[in-house]
Amino acid sequence: MAWFKRQSVELDTSGEKKVRTEGLWVKCDGCRQIIWKKDLEENLNVCPKCDRHFRIDARTRLAQLLDDGVYEVDDANLASTDPLKFVDLKPYAGRLKQAQLQTDLKDAVINARGQLNGRPVIVSAMEYSFIGGSMGAVVGEAITRAVERAAESRNPIVIVSASGGARMMEGVISLMQLAKISSALARLDEVKVPYISVLTDPTTGGVTASYAMLGDLNIAEPGALIGFAGPRVIEQTIRQKLPQGFQRSEFLLEHGMLDAVVHRRDLKPYIARAFDFMMPQNGVKTA
Ligand SMILES: [Zn+2]
Repeated sequence: MAWFKRQSVELDTSGEKKVRTEGLWVKCDGCRQIIWKKDLEENLNVCPKCDRHFRIDARTRLAQLLDDGVYEVDDANLASTDPLKFVDLKPYAGRLKQAQLQTDLKDAVINARGQLNGRPVIVSAMEYSFIGGSMGAVVGEAITRAVERAAESRNPIVIVSASGGARMMEGVISLMQLAKISSALARLDEVKVPYISVLTDPTTGGVTASYAMLGDLNIAEPGALIGFAGPRVIEQTIRQKLPQGFQRSEFLLEHGMLDAVVHRRDLKPYIARAFDFMMPQNGVKTA
């Protein structure tokens, strides 16, 4: 009659199921629908219901653009020296350290070399989650080096921007990067190596005012915020209400500021076709 006796062995909890609900679903800011995260990721982080393009990090971007997601990273050890010893609410040195821990990057850009539909290319992808993708001396130097590498190797370059602009904690030093990168791009133009600028959400401030708008082609993802100053600052300056959709990709395309608005799924073939057109002598047919 063992059935009423308490078993002395303890309950085995090792195989206990953990219910995970957090992080499995995301709410789309475009259509307010709840989307299964896996569906979103399989759709290149574009909402399957309303086509809203979610922000993606630099590594995901590189994996989407480069063949088999394979690439080599250059200039990964460049780090800011905090030249102004800047302190606002927190010391800049602390902000840097925190961002470095969170992103596992030294600064807000990854320089990569890989193949795009079989053609060797250089891609610089900005990381928005690193202090708002802001451009200080390191981003400036890294992008300049990538452009110079493109000129030297005669491999075309793609720069994917995602940035709030210049990094105010590096003051004038970050502003100097605009001129530095722009002159490197002018030299790239002289040796006739193409550069495609991809503007993603958001591309603003000093980045828009320099390399993001200096591509042989300037293309943007749908719905991306692109501008120099923010809408509130402009409204206060010109004392006028701004039109609907102002500073979004589609508005900029309509007003001649962009060459094309390209869906994320078409981005890679679009860039490949453009390079085929601009550099046919490479003899790589990808279309
Ligand atoms: Zn949506």
